[in-house]
Amino acid sequence: ESIPATNFIRQIISKDLAENKHREVITRFPPEPNGFLHIGHAKSICLNFGVAAENNGLCNLRFDDTNPEKESIEYVRAIEKDVHWLGFEWAELRHSSDYFEALYNYAVELIEKGLAYVDSLNADQIREYRGTLTKPGKESPDRNRSIEENLDLFARMRAGEFADGQYLLRAKIDMASSNINMRDPALYRIRRVHHQRTGDEWCIYPMYDYTHCISDAIEGITHSLCTLEFADHRPLYDWVLDNITIDCHPRQIEFARLELKYTIVSKRKLNQLVVDGHVSGWDDPRMPTIAGLRRAGFTPSAIRDFCERIGVTKKDSSIEMGVLENCIREDLNNTSARVMAVLDPLKVVIENYPDDLVEHLEASNHPQIEAMGKRIVPFAKEVYIDQDDFADVPPPKYKRLIAGGEVRLRGAYVIKCHEVIKNAEGKVVELRCTYDANTLGKNPEGRKVKGVIHWVSAAHALNAEVRLYDRLFKVPNPGAEDNFCDALNPDSLQVIAAAKVEASLAGAELGSRFQFERVGYFCLDTEDSLAGKLVFNRTVTLRDTWV
Ligand code: ATP
Ligand code: MG
Ligand code: MG
Repeated sequence: ESIPATNFIRQIISKDLAENKHREVITRFPPEPNGFLHIGHAKSICLNFGVAAENNGLCNLRFDDTNPEKESIEYVRAIEKDVHWLGFEWAELRHSSDYFEALYNYAVELIEKGLAYVDSLNADQIREYRGTLTKPGKESPDRNRSIEENLDLFARMRAGEFADGQYLLRAKIDMASSNINMRDPALYRIRRVHHQRTGDEWCIYPMYDYTHCISDAIEGITHSLCTLEFADHRPLYDWVLDNITIDCHPRQIEFARLELKYTIVSKRKLNQLVVDGHVSGWDDPRMPTIAGLRRAGFTPSAIRDFCERIGVTKKDSSIEMGVLENCIREDLNNTSARVMAVLDPLKVVIENYPDDLVEHLEASNHPQIEAMGKRIVPFAKEVYIDQDDFADVPPPKYKRLIAGGEVRLRGAYVIKCHEVIKNAEGKVVELRCTYDANTLGKNPEGRKVKGVIHWVSAAHALNAEVRLYDRLFKVPNPGAEDNFCDALNPDSLQVIAAAKVEASLAGAELGSRFQFERVGYFCLDTEDSLAGKLVFNRTVTLRDTWV
């Protein structure tokens, strides 16, 4: 069964398979464990795991752990959890650090071939010697060190004889190359930092470009998919593999990174938001991290759907937040149970309803999907409706409740408002109504009641905290600001401390998702909800109201 080649990477892979270049497709997702994964990573995950699965191939999860100072086991665990949660299984779990010994030996091979040398220039000199786009670089005085001397110095670098930064191992390529990445790039640096996996075994660490291609080749990766900024590094990727003894040469293919409007996809900047306390953590529901999206109530399938919809191209573009929001909205519309919640409660007393009567009304959990079943919604003399659903001075065409008017309480009766009670400031604090006992499940006699509003029984409702999230930034491209933190949206979180939700939510599971009828989609917070204290996060509004 052939997969339609819906993007250029799938086309390349199909062609390579058709030409028998490979027996099987092997890809990898190679995050650096220096932060939580974000929605941009989801694009890479869906692509790498997706193309492998479509071709009955394999995809590895590889931690690119060569920068020990910024990496931690906490991030490793979070990344593993997020990849699984998105619905993917890796063939093998690898670490670049698994290959430290092999990488060292390949470096020795390069030295022996006269293709790498130990350089004593310091960081400033390296930069100065490197040249610029318009100015060729200068060769280091150490460039012509003998092979014997290089082998000796490199061994002593590893043995810990030199201070951090005293020496560097560099590839010997071309200081005049028009591609600056080819101007004798660094392969190893001396750095005495404890590594989360290898401890203090190493005091030299391989550079990203050198590590990545060899790690790919060791794992037998066929297609090494990465983002466009690595296109300029591809000659180096190929140079390293062409010059060492290894029988695999993966093909690097670059695609456009995902940028999403009104947010930021960079672990470094997201880390700053966490460290500076602009958000409650990596999993703050406003964060574009997988953990944040999960906590906000996003589903794995909505995120995968989003990654499919945005496609994979070679052209950078910034995606509207609405595209992501539509994916979760469509998903939750089909899958979430309906419940009633009143965010801004206004008490309604139904004067002609018996004092002690409680009716246990049945309500469908989903208007179209019968299999989602029904629940019991208690109805009694006092109910809460939303302040918004009553207007003292109604705007034109207002269909909800007004003084003297009628409205249907969803799933229950038609009520009529007789008296509006206000406090000293003129705020409406209570409505006195009557109900028409003949309107349960049927239209009232002789008149049309158009409005239908949600409600909860005052005696049965549960208190809840409801967190309304908005976009984290107030500008479409916060990354382009001098200081992106200045562009934070001060109103990105509104906390409603005293919402009233229907009694059926008492037993809701942490993380479960609901449509609060007429209000939006909400998820029971996994971190802050306790027995007796419900906290709901708004996942997304019912409609796209943000302009
Ligand atoms: P960040 O700047 O957020 O740290 P990164 O590219 O340095 O991003 P890595 O951990 O190295 O993060 O990324 C792992 C993989 O995910 C890489 O192959 C990378 O190209 C890909 N990736 C990262 N960000 C995006 C993005 N915004 N869109 C698509 N792919 C991405
Ligand atoms: Mg990276
Ligand atoms: Mg990075």
